[in-house]
Amino acid sequence: MLGKLSKITQAISLVEDQNQLLELIVEQVCDALKVEVCTIFLADYDLNQFVLMATRGLNQSSVGQVHIDFNEGLVGLVGQREEPIHIQSAGKHPAFHYVEEINEDELSAYLGVPIIHQRKVLGVIAIQQKEERPFEIDEETFLITLAAQTAAALSNTEVNAIISDVERNQLVRCINGSPASSGVAIGTAKVVYPSLDLNSVSKRKAKDIPKEIKRLQKAVKRTHRQLANMADRMRGLISDQELSLFEAYQQILGSAGIEQEVGEQIKQGDSGPYALKVVINRHLKAFRSMEDPYLRERANDIQDLANRVLANLVEVEKFKLDPAPGTILVAENITASLLAEVPLDKISAVISLNGSSTSHAAILTKALGIPAVMGLDPCQISRLDDKNIIVDGYNGQLFISPDKTLIDQYQRLVEEEALFTEELERDRSCPNACKDGEIVKLLVNSSHAIDFDKAQKSGADGVGLYRTEIPFMQQSQFPSEDMQVDIYSKVINGFDGMPVTIRTLDIGGDKQLSYFPFEDENPFLGWRGVRVTLDHPEIFLVQLRAIFRASLDANNLKIALPMVATIEELDESFRLINQAFAEIEEESLPTGKKLYRPKIGIILEVPSSVFLLQKVIKRIDFVSIGTNDLIQYLLAVDRNNLKLRNLYSHFQPAVLQILKMIIEQCKDQDIDIQICGEMASDPLAAIVLIGMGYRELSMNAANITKVKRAISRFTVTEMATLTEQVMQHETEAKVKSDLFTAMEKRGLGGLIRAGN
Ligand code: PEP
Ligand code: MG
Repeated sequence: MLGKLSKITQAISLVEDQNQLLELIVEQVCDALKVEVCTIFLADYDLNQFVLMATRGLNQSSVGQVHIDFNEGLVGLVGQREEPIHIQSAGKHPAFHYVEEINEDELSAYLGVPIIHQRKVLGVIAIQQKEERPFEIDEETFLITLAAQTAAALSNTEVNAIISDVERNQLVRCINGSPASSGVAIGTAKVVYPSLDLNSVSKRKAKDIPKEIKRLQKAVKRTHRQLANMADRMRGLISDQELSLFEAYQQILGSAGIEQEVGEQIKQGDSGPYALKVVINRHLKAFRSMEDPYLRERANDIQDLANRVLANLVEVEKFKLDPAPGTILVAENITASLLAEVPLDKISAVISLNGSSTSHAAILTKALGIPAVMGLDPCQISRLDDKNIIVDGYNGQLFISPDKTLIDQYQRLVEEEALFTEELERDRSCPNACKDGEIVKLLVNSSHAIDFDKAQKSGADGVGLYRTEIPFMQQSQFPSEDMQVDIYSKVINGFDGMPVTIRTLDIGGDKQLSYFPFEDENPFLGWRGVRVTLDHPEIFLVQLRAIFRASLDANNLKIALPMVATIEELDESFRLINQAFAEIEEESLPTGKKLYRPKIGIILEVPSSVFLLQKVIKRIDFVSIGTNDLIQYLLAVDRNNLKLRNLYSHFQPAVLQILKMIIEQCKDQDIDIQICGEMASDPLAAIVLIGMGYRELSMNAANITKVKRAISRFTVTEMATLTEQVMQHETEAKVKSDLFTAMEKRGLGGLIRAGN
């Protein structure tokens, strides 16, 4: 049974067309389980009905014709109960609904399983038999497993279908994602392919067939060359047997005639990447169905090879990327380095299939003030290419091929936003004061050469968080001590006279160095932050020395340690900090430059350190709360997991409680405390944080004026009362709803949604 299931799983993964997919499933289920009938009904939420979409064993001509109300029949029952329903004699069941067109007369045994994706019933898959017989337990588990896989596959096609609808009918459709950076934009989408995978390529027509063929030939030639170079480089480093893989690749690429086959496919009108996908899928199907495990394994080689050819095919396009002004940048994974490559002045918004509002790319788009939506509902982003799109970064929505009414509506919002931004801009040099005049420190987070300019012009009271790993990520090897001195000097001197908190290297999790790769089964719970740097004092000490050298004669440095979970880590970090400090102090003596002792603190982001806080506080000068990670560890919600995007929220009551606990302890101990996670950038959250007692918030550059405006409309007492009120709530939705109402009442709606 297991073998059959994995065969179906593989087959499902290769099918793109929804109808084909459903037909394939019903057919394979009947074969695998030896049942007479298998049907799939899908839910139509406009009609509140299930529609028969595929069958084997019932009347084929009724496909697409039979509609059953959501509360009707056995299908309706499975949908309503959201659980498998197993009936030995279907005709006698009170819910049985006779449909003449489908010839169910002689059927008895029935097993129906709902197809559910993210709590939504997408349809029902059912098997039926003439015999009155109980289905076996492994038949039931087989069908449940398959239904879950079908749900995942259908959720992929859902948005793709929307996009093809748009192509056919020019309907305005909406795709949802996470609101990653606020703002709205209207423009033409340009899809870029930094990380390539054949599966993400969708059907497109060749614009110019001879040109596409030439491009293919070039890509194949280039792949041949790369393989030869790779083999040369590896010779002597890997075994001859492993080396022969490169030869095998060369052979497949040459003699199997892939180039010729793809060329033929292009001549039929497909674009190069899609033609490659069609041909490769054909080969994969053949290889994967082979019984011989060695030959089956070759399927992986072919896939790898195809991705290499694809990379070269698309590379040609990528280098030509010169977007028109106002372009909406779309990619599977928008990364900090991709943003560094594109001319940002021409980008009006960013869309990333993956990622979330606290992924590092999202943090960067916020800092740059570019509207962004990340973590889209599953779709093939290549289909967005060249489409006219509205991006609503407040609600995390895209509108594809919007009509004139919608464009006009959003155009008005874009204009209102521009005016509102101008208005906020005028307040930039005003003090960061609440309505009653109480001053609050608004600091800026920075990490990158591309956001530093904005940070400097942000009017911040200093740098609350400088993420050092980002410059590390942009190198091809560990940066030298001198290079690091240059990087840190810019920020320390650029904010002369203001505090600058430099965080020591925080790699791991979703921040990897290409030149120092390691794999963790569970990266966010793995080797991260000080866990890495303490294991590598040679890396840590170079960084600490560079930070101290950069701060010579400046008295504004603060050092923050990421991911501290135990007292031992803290003590060991101090040992190394003291060592580096003593070295630089001694080395700088002859120069006459003064090395001031910096304030040293931790990024409070691991829940264990909250419970050790009394002991931790005795050793350090300040606490900076990293809410991005604290929330994920507290709620056990991966900050980048799209499925959990509704759960990951700084307004979850448990998050508010822990933040209250922390501020109370820090106040008792009279220690400096600030918030440096993304929560502080949210004007709504800033109100709550000040209401709790926080007075230092570090945020992205683009949001400083927004937070400044929000706090200027509330007195500290008003904020405290509102905070007390929302902290009584049991759900995140209620917390948010009260805060939204309070903002709208004070004319601050423009800070939390599009428009003014
Ligand atoms: C945090 O976790 O809140 C934080 C500031 O660090 P990062 O987002 O870089 O993990
Ligand atoms: Mg963190």
